[in-house]
Order: sequence, then structure tokens, then C-alpha cells
Amino acid sequence: MGRTFLEKFEALSVPGQSWAIVVLALAGANPLTVLFYGLFFQERLVLDLVLTSLIVVVVGWPIAYFFLRQQARLKSMAGKLVWAANYDDLTKMTNRRTFIEKAAAMIDADDSGKGVGALLYLDVDRFKSINDTFGHAAGDKLLVALSAAIRSCVRDGDLAGRIGGEEFAVLLAHAGSDEARRVAERIRLAVSKVSDSTGIIDRKITISIGLVLHRPGQSLDETMSQADQFLYAAKEQGRDRVVHEGASLEAA
Ligand code: GH3
Ligand code: MG
Ligand code: MG
Repeated sequence: MGRTFLEKFEALSVPGQSWAIVVLALAGANPLTVLFYGLFFQERLVLDLVLTSLIVVVVGWPIAYFFLRQQARLKSMAGKLVWAANYDDLTKMTNRRTFIEKAAAMIDADDSGKGVGALLYLDVDRFKSINDTFGHAAGDKLLVALSAAIRSCVRDGDLAGRIGGEEFAVLLAHAGSDEARRVAERIRLAVSKVSDSTGIIDRKITISIGLVLHRPGQSLDETMSQADQFLYAAKEQGRDRVVHEGASLEAA
């Protein structure tokens, strides 16, 4: 019951909250005025009720408004700080710190005995030269479009984040080898289509992907460094490709 009242109060605007406090103060002050003046100064009761109400409204409302507005500002600032600590400002994707925190939590909670799923480590190909040719702003726009392309290929329960300048990571929850390869290929194809929307013309945008399946008991660090090795192999093999365990062995 108390919680419901608090929730209703917090849903009000700051002026609304100030009025709620004034009404509560009136509900407390006026019965006391009635009791006191009713007993000792009955002839002044109405006048004092009016006076008490006026004081509560004129003095109480601005004070309540001032403190509640300060509180609302602090709350909004805290919300922005929490957001900035967890998300990347440019792409609005989960940042590196949060990706690692959430992925590690998913690994800790996994009791399937089959591993948590598949980890993709993605790195845009020749991004430095895209910046050099089209400008840093175009590069930024491309990163935003790439993040949307990556997100469009994953499900709600998966985890996708920007973990470096032009590097992304995706944890495909409960995905097996075939499904993970399919999603990685889908991302690679989606990326090859983003340049149309960014104004980067006559330049094919490609991405290299290292794919690894998480094994039961394997730490996130081990999984990520393995995926990074496959990503490195993808770069070595000519970029614009997905490299996973079998593929890298074939290539070696
Ligand atoms: P490779 O195919 O080997 O990955 O080549 P690359 O050029 O992508 O690799 P490299 O690591 O040399 O370059 C990454 C570039 O990404 C360098 C840096 O200027 C750029 N970059 C990093 N963060 C941002 C960003 O937020 N915005 C823009 N526009 N560029 C960024
Ligand atoms: Mg890189
Ligand atoms: Mg790169």
C-alpha cells in the first residue's frame, strides 16, 4: 500500500509533487488548528484556518518545489551517468565493460553442460582507410549503421556490444555451431549492404569475424582470446569472412 502511494507520488511532475506535499501539510495542520482554536478561540477559528492554509501554501509550496526539483535533477543526472557507464554514446550499444560483465554473468549462470553459446568477435576491415578517404564523421555514421546491422541479426536474448573503436562482439545464447555460422554469415551480408545508407559510395564495406563455441567450464577470457585468434586468421586469409574452429584448421 505504502509502495503504491510512493510510486504514484514519484509519477507526478515536480509541481504536482509540491502540491501533494502542500495538501498533506494542510491535512496535518488544519485539524490541529481546528482542535486548538476550537477549544480556546472559537471566534477566530475560520480566520486561523484561512491563515494556516495560506501560510502552508505560500511558504510550503516553493520550499517543496525547490527541494523536489533538486532531487529530480540529481536523479536524472544519476540516470545519465549509469547509462554512460554501460552504453557506447555513438552507437548506443552495450560498451566493452558491460559486455564483459553481462557475458561473464551468462557464463557463470550457465548450467546446461553444453556451454553458453557462441561468441563472435567482429572487426571492420580497413576502417582506417575509410576514415582517411571519407572523413571521421562518415566513419562515425558508418559505425552507427554497422551497429544497427549487427543488432538486426541477433535475437533478444543475445548480447551484442561495441567493445573497441571498430570492433564488436556478439554472444549468441545457446547457439550451436550451425546456427552460429548462419548468424555470422547473415551479419557479414548485412554489413556489406550498409554503405548505401551512409553516403560512402564506391567502396565495399566488409567485416571479418572470428567465431568460437563456448565450452563448459571455459572462462570468458579464454573464449574471447580464442575468438580473437580466429578473427586474426580471418584478416590473414584476406578479410570479409567468418573463421571458426574447423575453418581455421583447414586454412592452417
Ligand atoms: P583491419 O582490416 O586490419 O582491421 O584494418 P583497420 O584499418 O580497420 O584497422 P586499424 O586498427 O588500423 O584501424 C582502426 C581505425 O578505427 C583507427 C581509428 O582511427 C578508427 N576508429 C576507432 N574508433 C573510431 C570512432 O569512434 N570513429 C571513427 N570514425 N573512427 C574510429
Ligand atoms: Mg580493430
Ligand atoms: Mg579493423
